[in-house]
Amino acid sequence: MKSMRVHSLFALFLIGILPILFFTWEIVNTYNTTAFEQRQSALLSQGSSLANLLLSSGYFTDSSSEEANTELYRVTGIYEGRILVIDSNLNILKDTYGIEDGNIIISEDVIKCLRGTSSIYQNKQDNYIEMTVPITHNTTKEIMGVLLMNFSTKNIHTITTMLYQKASVLFLTTAILIFVYAFFYSGVFTKPFISLKKAIGHLTEGYMDEEVTVGGFYEVKQISNSLNQMLLRIKNLESSRQEFVSNVSHELKTPLTSVKVLADSLLMQENVPSELYREFLVDIAEEIERENKIINDLLSLVKLDKTASDMNITSIKINELLELVLKRLRPIAKKNNIELIYESFRPVIAEVDEVKLSLALSNLIENAIKYNVEDGWVRVSLNADHKYFYVKVSDSGIGIPEEAQDFIFDRFYRVDKTRSRESGGTGLGLSITKNAVHMHRGAIKVYSKENEGTTFTVRVPINYIA
Ligand code: ADP
Repeated sequence: MKSMRVHSLFALFLIGILPILFFTWEIVNTYNTTAFEQRQSALLSQGSSLANLLLSSGYFTDSSSEEANTELYRVTGIYEGRILVIDSNLNILKDTYGIEDGNIIISEDVIKCLRGTSSIYQNKQDNYIEMTVPITHNTTKEIMGVLLMNFSTKNIHTITTMLYQKASVLFLTTAILIFVYAFFYSGVFTKPFISLKKAIGHLTEGYMDEEVTVGGFYEVKQISNSLNQMLLRIKNLESSRQEFVSNVSHELKTPLTSVKVLADSLLMQENVPSELYREFLVDIAEEIERENKIINDLLSLVKLDKTASDMNITSIKINELLELVLKRLRPIAKKNNIELIYESFRPVIAEVDEVKLSLALSNLIENAIKYNVEDGWVRVSLNADHKYFYVKVSDSGIGIPEEAQDFIFDRFYRVDKTRSRESGGTGLGLSITKNAVHMHRGAIKVYSKENEGTTFTVRVPINYIA
């Protein structure tokens, strides 16, 4: 019953059938009411002209007037009815059925009519109209008697019934036609959805290389286009996942290969002097340390790939956070003879995840120190407006070639592999930074010129947007 086809079938059917039902019912009903009204007014005028005739023919003194009686029978003949002529003493002077002649009538309606209130009833069940018409003297206005008229309305009933029968046949025929039409069109409406379902089923079975091509309605085409876009995104994600896995394996294997080479070369020689053992073991320890760093960076990256619900948001003084990061990095800067400058334009309090933001900013500052020139400088500045705070990390370093700037945020990408490796880089730092900034709904940009220096700007909303 939840089926779209069943629903649209019923909707179309009802939309088609209800107006027809309403109109046929309304037409037959209007005929019936109008016919009754017309019959009533015709009878009333017949009644009043009969009353005039009875008066003029002196019927109340002599009820044998041929002219009046002929007219009485003519009217009852035409309209299939019965007329009683009653005088003011309730004597029945004439009954066109010839049953009650000379009798006295005790009828509430007749008495009321003699007092001036005539009545009229329509009985649609038994198909008759009954009415009382006063016979009023032209000059004295005295009510001389009453005409009690009862007429059949069977012919109106017969025509109404016939109209109802014809309407029913018409209604049934159209109902069948509309049902067939609704059945056909509900199928046309739902067909593209069934095709879409089939296409999705095909994708789920693993045939991801095939495009979804469902025609028909514009909206369905749009769904199918969106589906294809989603498919493309999934494919891209899958290929970047595969690339990532292969890069990870490669990066993790490199230090292990070095360790193996170092160990093997020691094992292959005999009587190796202990200084050489020591030297090689120092190298082996370095490689292990490097392996450790790659694993740690990978773990940070995996953590940052999770959803926003993993954010631990608190209100933090960003000035203090930056000072802490700089304090940790100052020894490294000093070792490389790099001047570390910090500028703060205003105190900033913002809703951030302290650990993730520290990691992001410290990666940027560490890079600025690592990829710097001798006796260079690194300038870190903090500013804010009513919506965002901005951290700018500039350096006097080696810069990033323009063609490489699009890739530096990719995982494992390094402009100069040897230099990065020498300074303990893994190629994951900027991906970690970018992910952390994006999780804060922020943005990161790079401006750099080779051999002149680099500037990274980070913009983060002061109030966290979930
Ligand atoms: P790495 O661990 O190699 O530093 P990152 O992801 O942090 O990896 O950086 C990617 C690459 O971008 C680096 O290898 C380096 O070539 C380049 N890079 C990053 N920051 C700077 C900078 N401040 N100046 C020059 N080059 C940079």
